[in-house]
Parts: sequence; structure tokens; C-alpha cells
Amino acid sequence: MAQRLIVIGGDAAGMAAASQARRRRDRGDLEIVAFERGHFTSYSACGIPYWISGLVPERDELIARDPATFREKFAIDVRMRHEVTAIDLDRREVVARDLGGGGEVRERFDTLVYATGAVPTKPDWARTGTGGVFGVQTLDDGAALRAWLESEPRPRRAVVVGGGYIGVEMAEALIQRGLSVTLVEQAEQPMSTVDPDMAELVTDAMRAIGITIRTGLAVTGLEETDGRVSAVVTAEGPIPTDMVVLGLGVRPNTALAEAAGLPLGVTGGVRVDRRMRVAGVPGVWAAGDCVETVHRVTGMPVHVPLGTHANKQGRVAGINIGGGYATFLGVIGTAVTKVCDLEVGRTGLRERDARAAGFEFVSVIAQSTNRAGYYPGSRPMTVKLIAEKPSGRLLGAQIVGWSEAAKRIDTLAVALWNGMTVDDMTALDLGYAPPYAPVWDPVLIAARKAVDALAATDQ
Ligand SMILES: Cc1cc2nc3c(=O)[nH]c(=O)nc-3n(C[C@H](O)[C@H](O)[C@H](O)COP(=O)(O)OP(=O)(O)OC[C@H]3O[C@@H](n4cnc5c(N)ncnc54)[C@H](O)[C@@H]3O)c2cc1C
Repeated sequence: MAQRLIVIGGDAAGMAAASQARRRRDRGDLEIVAFERGHFTSYSACGIPYWISGLVPERDELIARDPATFREKFAIDVRMRHEVTAIDLDRREVVARDLGGGGEVRERFDTLVYATGAVPTKPDWARTGTGGVFGVQTLDDGAALRAWLESEPRPRRAVVVGGGYIGVEMAEALIQRGLSVTLVEQAEQPMSTVDPDMAELVTDAMRAIGITIRTGLAVTGLEETDGRVSAVVTAEGPIPTDMVVLGLGVRPNTALAEAAGLPLGVTGGVRVDRRMRVAGVPGVWAAGDCVETVHRVTGMPVHVPLGTHANKQGRVAGINIGGGYATFLGVIGTAVTKVCDLEVGRTGLRERDARAAGFEFVSVIAQSTNRAGYYPGSRPMTVKLIAEKPSGRLLGAQIVGWSEAAKRIDTLAVALWNGMTVDDMTALDLGYAPPYAPVWDPVLIAARKAVDALAATDQ
């Protein structure tokens, strides 16, 4: 008799696991059932800001594989609009509710993949049902937001609450839709994923495209007129608006896991080993935004909810379930984003992370350009490196600049992943031609500067 794999969550991690398991085991050997409570499978939440802005015209362009493709090409029984409400580990069953009104089903499993993603932070003031308040976690959220933008009376003003990368991307998207946008951030600066000196460059770029930035300020409530939001309430008075977008971060979606007794780590994510097996629970796997992973530089547990990790972790789980061998080796915190043409990349530790982890370090900032100075289109590029003292090992890097800045972080990520020192890095054989870099690549200039800074601390 075929064994049975049940997957909870039909997006990046869950469907990567299901498809990898299918590639290795045919339907006579492994029956696969995936439960998804939403309307879509395998879609790119990462693309939502670009769909909102209009750069990506159609919602369906964000869908990599729909349920029909999974059913027909992968023989995966995808049950859409089915929410799993309980996991019974003793009976090896899940209970799912048909959100289309079809009642409850119980399904047996031999193997379970828990891939429920993350839950966006939603303060009490945003739970009032007032019209015009949106999250951007799912395609349904995106559709609701787009419908509001296109409804009458047309919104002219927006407040984005939270200045993380999603808040910044949404602020830009709304500017591109012609709205007047205010971004409210409780901290002293938006873009706290990079150090304050680098975040300042991003803040300047945001202001330059017309985003009003209010920092050190919390939204504490809403004002409404006829059921529609008319202002957000802050300690410095109301900010009038026609819509509010929430970008306040996420936490692992572990309610079901917790109720079933799956172990959670210190960050709140499901605890897994490097093969994505849930620690101490045979036959149960977890992947994606719902799990905790390890930071390779500090060795500490972290929760880093990114699509790049969700896809890799799901793939690892699926290969292992399929009978192969694969491991997820942790993260180093590499991430990229942009504000219009200004690109931002980071990897490894920020100064405050390095300090908290107890490292001694130097940090340097090198100013350079993305192309040879004389070549048309040459623009500034700022590279920051953080290197351990006295070893010189690279601990972290950040880049802000115009074209070719964001993906240059990958060079630094590879160096960091492999434990290179800044001294090693000065010898790297990086490509040079005037349209792509100055003769000394910005990465090499920064590495040389870090070597000098280390030498200066020796004296
Ligand atoms: C606006 C935005 C921009 C982003 N940009 C980037 C980016 O540029 N780069 C990057 O790396 N990452 C980005 N991300 C993050 C990335 O989208 C997530 O890390 C990724 O989607 C996580 O995949 P996942 O499968 O773990 O979880 P999810 O994509 O959240 O999928 C989990 C699925 O489980 C379903 N589910 C949950 N509970 C149940 C249940 N009980 N029963 C049935 N189904 C259930 C949910 O409906 C959901 O479809 C972005 C996210 C957002 C919101």
C-alpha cells in the first residue's frame, strides 16, 4: 500500500517539499495530499509590491504553479480552501475544515510536512474592521489593496506603518501609483536591516522620491468617517489618510504545531534539524517561515522569514522524504531590496549584531562607483564591511548604490559563507571592464580599507 504524505501549506516551502518528494517517489509508492486554506498555490508574495505598483500588470504572473498543474503533472492532491485545524500525532491524522462550506475531513498520514508560513503583526487598532486598512502577506491582501486603489472615492493619501523592507517597497509602490505617502516608523530610522549610517542613504532616496518619513513615532489608533479610515492617530497628532498599509513584521505561524506538541525554539519557530526533521518527532518535517534556523556567523538560533530560505528548506525536506539526502546549513542574513533605482544589499552581521554576539571588530565604509568614473552611467556606490579583530574574518557587509549594487552583495556573501578574511578578499579575481566596475572593484576597495583599519588597531 502507498504511504501517505500530508503537507500543510501550499506555497513556497510546502509545495517545494511536495514536488521534490514526488520527483523521487511515484504515486504508487507515495500518495501526496496538500492542504491550502487560501485561493492560490506557489505564488510569489515577494512580487506583491510590484503588482501593486503596476510594474507587474497581472496577478497571475505571480503564480508559479496553480493547483491544476500540481494535480495533473505532479499527481499531488491539492485541497484548496481547506484549513487544517488540528494535528493528531497519536492517530497520525490531520483534521481540516473546508472553507467552501463542505464541513470537516480527517486524513491519515505516514509523513507530515508543516509549512504554514508566518503571521503578520497586526496591532489591536488595525483589527477594528475599518475600511482601507491592509496587510500585504497574501495575494488576497494584494487584491483587496488594489481594489481599494481603483475604487471611488479614489484614495489620494496613504500611510505605511513600519519601515522594514516590505514597508519601504510598499511606500515606493504607492508613490508610483500617484498617491501622497507617509511612512511612520517607531524606531529612529527606517531600514533597520542595515546599520544607521547606511540606512541614512536609503532614507535620503525615499525622501527624494517624495515619501514623507516620520520616525520615532508610533501609530496608536485610527480615525474613520463612514466606515473608511480618515487618519492614523499618533502622539504627535493625527495624520490624515485614505488608506493604511501595515508592514510591521511577522512571527512564525505555529499555533497548530504548538497545540500538537511540536517543539518550538527560542525564536518561536518550529525546531528542526539540518534535514528539516522536527526535533524528536518521527515522520514530521517543517520548512519555511514557520521554522527556526541557525545563523552561521553567530551560531545562534534565528527566525529569518524569506522566500529564498523557504524554497531551499522545502526542497531539502522533500529530497529527504523522497529517500535522498539533503541538508539546510543555516543562513547568514543575505537580503536585497531597492528604493526606485537605489539598491540595498546586506549579508552577515550589522554592527549591533556583532556587538551583541561579543565580537571585537572594525567597520569601514568605502565610497566608490558602480562603473569606471568616465563611463556613462557611473554612479556612487557605498560599501560597508565589518571584520573581526584581530583575525580579519569578514562578519558582515552592506552595500547601497545604483545599478549593480544589490547583487554585488552576493560576492560578499560567498566570502562570508566561506569564512574569508578581508586580507584574503583583497586578492579576489573579480571581473573588470569599464561598463561594470572601476578598475578596483568597490568590494576590493572596501576590503583594502578594512585591512588598513585592522592594521591601525594593531599599533
Ligand atoms: C510583500 C512581501 C514581499 C516579500 N519579498 C521577499 C523578497 O524580496 N525576498 C525574499 O526572499 N522573501 C520575500 N518575502 C518573504 C517570502 O514571501 C516568504 O518568506 C515566503 O513566502 C515563505 O514561504 P512559506 O511557504 O514558508 O510560507 P507562506 O508563503 O506564508 O505559505 C504558507 C501557506 O500556508 C497556508 N496555511 C497556513 N496555515 C494553514 C492551515 N492551517 N491550513 C492550510 N493552509 C495553511 C497559508 O495560506 C500559506 O499559503 C516577501 C513577503 C512579502 C509578504
